[in-house]
Amino acid sequence: MTENQTPDNSTSWGRRGFLAAMGIGVGAAIVGLPAQASAAGAWSNPTIGRITSGFRPPSRPTHSGTDVANSQGTAIRAANAGKIVGVRTNSYPGDTRPGLLPGRTGNAVLIDHLNGYRTYYGHIYSAGVSVGQTVSAGQYIAAMGTTGNSTGPHLHFEVLVNGSPTNPYTFLANRGITLGSSAPIGGAGWPTVKQGSTGTLVKVVQHLLSANGHSLVVDGNFGSVSVAAAKAFQTKKGLVADGVVGPKTWPKLILEVKSGSTGSRAKAAQVALNRQGASLVVDGNFGSVSVAAAKAFQTKKGLVADGLIGPLTWEVLV
Ligand SMILES: [Zn+2]
Repeated sequence: MTENQTPDNSTSWGRRGFLAAMGIGVGAAIVGLPAQASAAGAWSNPTIGRITSGFRPPSRPTHSGTDVANSQGTAIRAANAGKIVGVRTNSYPGDTRPGLLPGRTGNAVLIDHLNGYRTYYGHIYSAGVSVGQTVSAGQYIAAMGTTGNSTGPHLHFEVLVNGSPTNPYTFLANRGITLGSSAPIGGAGWPTVKQGSTGTLVKVVQHLLSANGHSLVVDGNFGSVSVAAAKAFQTKKGLVADGVVGPKTWPKLILEVKSGSTGSRAKAAQVALNRQGASLVVDGNFGSVSVAAAKAFQTKKGLVADGLIGPLTWEVLV
């Protein structure tokens, strides 16, 4: 899985292009960024997959990134905290518009991490972020795709240091991260629900525990009965039974929800969609209105808009 060999325009997307996109000068660009994005902090693996093409190998001396291949829809996450300074859509061969790597990497995102670091994510299905948005390390930004000049789903990942592409694999390895194979760190990820938690996210967990056979009154209060149900579920799944629903428990707790799904799992998805701005009746019937709400959410987040709530959609949803 790789993009076809064409002249690499990466280096043209240097400081001048960056500033042109910002529409402002150097001082304004730096002053205008929020304090929490003022320094590159911990780096994070941007996606999981296998390396299919490296940085400027002898056979591809102009390939200024590293390609990481996986299935379409695989989560792509910010490699560090920063600000979205470019979102490119529909750049295909023949596209001569100025901007991010015209004609080569399809839909793409560019993040500025300050301190001279920028990262670029090409061939994405679509972006789940917009220009000007601040992101944290590990925050979901896009789904993997094969847009632009590409032969299969993969991420074309570039690291730019003061405008010059550097080897992304080595760059991350020097920071203790194996590109493609290590779990992303930081970011939003799965939330934590524990004893004393209240609100609609608790209702999502209570519906999911019910759907997994631990019937609960769904009241949005994670009290002793809910904690006991969570512990029983964790024990059943071989997890540490601490009653805390966090990053290890969520992946086991979620259930696929799609057109025609019914019962507690459908209610869980409906409540979760309502938390994201939908206005669904929580009736436990995942019909056309619910599917449409799921597709709208997926489109907004750059996910494949199939209306099916699987692991990635669930993670972005909660
Ligand atoms: Zn590439």
